[in-house]
Amino acid sequence: MRYPIGMKKKISKHHVISGGLFFCGLILGIFLIVGQSKESRSSAYVQAINGDETVSSREYAKTIERSVVDLFTGVHRIELNVQSGDTLSALLEKAGVPYNQRQAVIASFKDTFDIRTLRPDTKRRKGDRLRLHYKDGGKEGLISLEKLEVYRSSIQRFYSERKGDGYKSWEETFDPAVKVVRREGVIGEGQSFIAVAQAQGIPYNIIDQFYDILGFDLDFERDIRAGAKFSVLYEEKYGPDGKYIGDGAFLFGEFKNSGCDLKIYRHEMADGKIAYYNAEGKGAQKALRKTPINGARVSSPFGLRRHPILGYTKKHQGVDFAASAGTPIPAAGSGRVVFEGKKGGYGNYIKIRHNGMYETAYAHLRGFKKGVHVGSTVKQGEIVGYVGSTGRSTGPHLHYEILKNGVHVNPLTVKMPSVENLDGKELVRFKRNKEKVDVQFALLEENMKKYAQNLLKD
Ligand SMILES: [Zn+2]
Repeated sequence: MRYPIGMKKKISKHHVISGGLFFCGLILGIFLIVGQSKESRSSAYVQAINGDETVSSREYAKTIERSVVDLFTGVHRIELNVQSGDTLSALLEKAGVPYNQRQAVIASFKDTFDIRTLRPDTKRRKGDRLRLHYKDGGKEGLISLEKLEVYRSSIQRFYSERKGDGYKSWEETFDPAVKVVRREGVIGEGQSFIAVAQAQGIPYNIIDQFYDILGFDLDFERDIRAGAKFSVLYEEKYGPDGKYIGDGAFLFGEFKNSGCDLKIYRHEMADGKIAYYNAEGKGAQKALRKTPINGARVSSPFGLRRHPILGYTKKHQGVDFAASAGTPIPAAGSGRVVFEGKKGGYGNYIKIRHNGMYETAYAHLRGFKKGVHVGSTVKQGEIVGYVGSTGRSTGPHLHYEILKNGVHVNPLTVKMPSVENLDGKELVRFKRNKEKVDVQFALLEENMKKYAQNLLKD
């Protein structure tokens, strides 16, 4: 078996495998021949051999005859997938592995594989698969387990193999091969960024990151004009068998929208921390201010409290800051005003949407800053209104709220992805990395065009 260039075979933990893969390959080859010689079963055999068909543990009893046999060694091979509620012991029992062998296999995994982490199939992810290599056990329904493989992914497997009286286990991992890909899309009239990005084959995870990071500077619902163009550069990971495993890092994103051109670059610092920056090395992820008014004292914290006017216990959805009437209120972050006006007990209320995830709100205001209206964009620190005591309020103070995905969170404790601007040596490292990414981005243009043409053909 050969691995793509740049792929290292890495063996971790304890026992070293000696030619295990080669051994498997050999058996597979023999199985293939056997399968083809038996006409009626050949297609099932070949599928099972290729690993494309996995027998559900629930269907196991019905499909046991689908196992493949090596005529020279008498070793059968069967593959089972793991479903919710399955345990390794129960699966082995169902397969006919005798009690003492089950115990010995489980004991052998002690330091190499935590059997409680056996992963079932879910809607989103294929679970672990068990590959049993066994001989007929002689006794009715029982088998003799020669080797068990827990196939987690094409880069991670766990083995337990018969050695003398017991079993010996090891883990095998491979570094995935990484391929950098470029994709881009143009947003048409009435289309959403997410829909267009999905149509271009960009993975959810990459779309999410793009949306969250650029969302600090861009309102994806309202800022985007027809004809806006975006590009992304990200990694795809492949296993030693050449199969796609998943996406890797999101390296670069660009958004061109009616004259503005936003770029973000992933940068790994010398200490291993990863963050996104614009082309100048300024942090692309900006935190909201926990205390919009500098130095203001907290007069009432977030959480359950006895309401000063209503008298009963009620959850306080924000934090109150003591401040005299008329104190200017700066926006906690850049964003767009989505509400401005009277709102029940809140009195004069203003709400700013910062990105796809965060909003902040300010209540009991005496008034709003002139020129700030629903739809206005504001910068972090820009004045949006003035402290007052309108609505259900006992005296002048600022009631401040942060909403994360529409849910009130404690402004004083919420963790936000804030990133400092780069300087000094780190800025030099960033610029060097940025140049590489720019070159790679340009080089991948042809590649991407071919991909887009193939998409059209499908
Ligand atoms: Zn309050």
